[in-house]
Amino acid sequence: MIEVYIGLGSNLALPEKQIQAACDSLAALPDSALIKCSSLYQSKPMGSQDQPDYVNAVALIETALSPETLLQQTQLIESQQGRIHKANRWGSRTLDLDMLLYGQQLIDNEHLTVPHSGMKQREFVLYPLFEIAPDLIFPCGKKLSDLVLTCPTNGLRRMTRLVLI
Ligand code: ATP
Ligand code: MG
Ligand code: MG
Repeated sequence: MIEVYIGLGSNLALPEKQIQAACDSLAALPDSALIKCSSLYQSKPMGSQDQPDYVNAVALIETALSPETLLQQTQLIESQQGRIHKANRWGSRTLDLDMLLYGQQLIDNEHLTVPHSGMKQREFVLYPLFEIAPDLIFPCGKKLSDLVLTCPTNGLRRMTRLVLI
């Protein structure tokens, strides 16, 4: 089994519910187990600021699926939750599932770049990842803890959840 970190993001159609539903779907993946999910975080959009704030989280799964099969599965979950691919990059979406790390493997092909190309600069990835994997070291040797220290929060907020009894 390989440890895989997945970044989750949503800013449409009740984002918190979208993230929760996506975690449930990750837990139901074949030949895989959901190990951890971070808190939810509220973040500012990349690209056009003329869209709602995002809700983000990072999950850790263990899987026997190949990177290609796992990508197909996560893209299927995106579609099932109504993701529509538009022309504008980083536009609003019901769900984005990005494969951040696949063990310590380096992957760079037409469909997949792992570690995810933008992750080391993105506060909404680094902080939730740090919450669930504070000792993580990237395949390049960089420590996550060092990246977090130099990554501006850009207004990122950990969301608190009211528990209604
Ligand atoms: P970004 O990747 O900058 O966060 P995005 O998540 O909005 O942008 P998508 O539209 O979700 O981008 O994905 C575009 C393509 O990226 C996908 O079709 C997929 O093949 C490719 N891709 C490459 N590397 C990865 C990865 N590590 N995880 C998910 N998709 C990836
Ligand atoms: Mg993305
Ligand atoms: Mg994506």
